[in-house]
Amino acid sequence: MIYDYLIVGAGIGGLSAGLNLATHKKKTLILEKNSIPGGLVSTFKRGRFEFDTALYNLYDYGDDVHVGKFRELLKEFGIELETKIVPFNTRIKVLNPEANFVIRGEIKDFIIELERLKEGSIESLKEFMRITKEVHEAMELLKNHEPIDSSIAPNFIKYFNTDSYTALKSLGMPEETIDRLGFLWPELGSPLNKLSFIDFSLFMYKIIFKKNTILLNNSLNLPLKLAARYQELGGRIYYNSLVTEVTKNGKFYLVKTEDNLEYKAKHIIFDVSKRYVYENIIKNHNPEINRLENARTLSPNGVVVYLGLNRSPEELGLKNYNYYAFHTLNSAENVRYMTNLEHETFSAIVPNIMNASASPKNTTILVLKKMFFTDVFKNLNNQNYEQIKEQIAQNLITSFEETFKIDISEYIEEIAVATPVTFASFTNNVDGSFYGYMAKSYDNPIYRFITYPEEETPGFTFVGASSLFGAHVDNAFYSGYYLTEELLKNKEGK
Ligand SMILES: Cc1cc2nc3c(=O)[nH]c(=O)nc-3n(C[C@H](O)[C@H](O)[C@H](O)COP(=O)(O)OP(=O)(O)OC[C@H]3O[C@@H](n4cnc5c(N)ncnc54)[C@H](O)[C@@H]3O)c2cc1C
Repeated sequence: MIYDYLIVGAGIGGLSAGLNLATHKKKTLILEKNSIPGGLVSTFKRGRFEFDTALYNLYDYGDDVHVGKFRELLKEFGIELETKIVPFNTRIKVLNPEANFVIRGEIKDFIIELERLKEGSIESLKEFMRITKEVHEAMELLKNHEPIDSSIAPNFIKYFNTDSYTALKSLGMPEETIDRLGFLWPELGSPLNKLSFIDFSLFMYKIIFKKNTILLNNSLNLPLKLAARYQELGGRIYYNSLVTEVTKNGKFYLVKTEDNLEYKAKHIIFDVSKRYVYENIIKNHNPEINRLENARTLSPNGVVVYLGLNRSPEELGLKNYNYYAFHTLNSAENVRYMTNLEHETFSAIVPNIMNASASPKNTTILVLKKMFFTDVFKNLNNQNYEQIKEQIAQNLITSFEETFKIDISEYIEEIAVATPVTFASFTNNVDGSFYGYMAKSYDNPIYRFITYPEEETPGFTFVGASSLFGAHVDNAFYSGYYLTEELLKNKEGK
């Protein structure tokens, strides 16, 4: 049988591509190397704890009043998730010079706090909020191939290739307020002086206008629901199927798996980065693709320590959902430290604060994360890997205890440590990078969007976190949905 579309990888991007194609009755096959769908969105068990590997904040989902695009699209496919809107509840400690601040409540409370911390910020913050709306609306026009000019979206045009720091500064925002407003930059994978202002605005639009959400069930539930609906619509998915080679064979492509099975398809969709695909699956190197790929920078990778603690959050003194420790408030300076194995910037999350059933009664899950802005793990070898992994995990636990004055060591019942090597071997993300490519000012979603038809190799489409809209679950989903919409329109005159 010749499939219309064969999708490599059942991450969120691959599943959304599959869902859309199966909805349009295309013969679609997904080949996934693991035994479950979801890629980075997964769960694992240790003793009586079930840990989510990645998805602790669901963006652009919203609620009945603030309906996010992600929720809207899932509904179209007949999928609903059990979610909860969560307010900010974040404690931030800056080590050098020492400073502390807490963000609690709604976005308006955050803005009031920013003004309280630095008088004279409010006007620029209001202007920023207005701009996020304009950027969002302009991006929607662009996606629908509608024209944009400076009369409709002057700021979108003005800040098209500007980094976030420069753009916020041009709004007259004080330095400290820029740094505090951008406290989530580690989650976006870029310091503010590199991060595209368009990307930052699109991200903040979701947080400001669609609220932050969490999943109430374990996160594997999301890919399982997507995969089940895809199969109901007639799509096929084969697990334990590592794709090792794709070659052209006349009018179709021949896809080989590790266990020497062969499949034929007219078009291939990859839910893995171009860099991985051209190095591992398509063996004939295309210098033009290498040239474009080299202009992109992989997002940081990191170590995540998942802890199951045998006390309740109250007993432990854990009061916040998120904790951040920054070496300095300035993101560019932080990144310089984060190129070494030893650095002092890290974050923590306590799912139980927002979801009492995140772990059994009188226990707590604590997830510690430390990111690196180069592939520091490349220098490790079989001899020192385990030892260095243990050391980073131990240092991270000690840093958390010392920074936030909360004892956890003696209450650890379960511990699991994931390094860039773990993430790379589970998903094939190059160097275990967390968020695809960095969203730099010259490599923002608009550039990627405008150039993707030229960058695509005929017969191949790339979806997921390394694709059009960047990382996060919502963006990975949009890439699969949007690019298959384009394929259906262009190829088949939908
Ligand atoms: C620690 C961490 C925390 C995060 N937290 C959040 C969060 O709170 N909120 C949020 O929105 N996002 C978060 N993210 C980001 C988010 O998880 C990802 O951006 C998103 O899940 C990526 O989806 P993807 O479609 O690109 O696929 P991936 O998840 O990368 O999956 C790719 C799939 O392809 C399969 N595959 C690879 N190679 C082959 C092959 N050769 N043959 C067959 N199959 C193959 C893999 O097994 C995998 O299933 C986090 C990421 C990390 C690492």
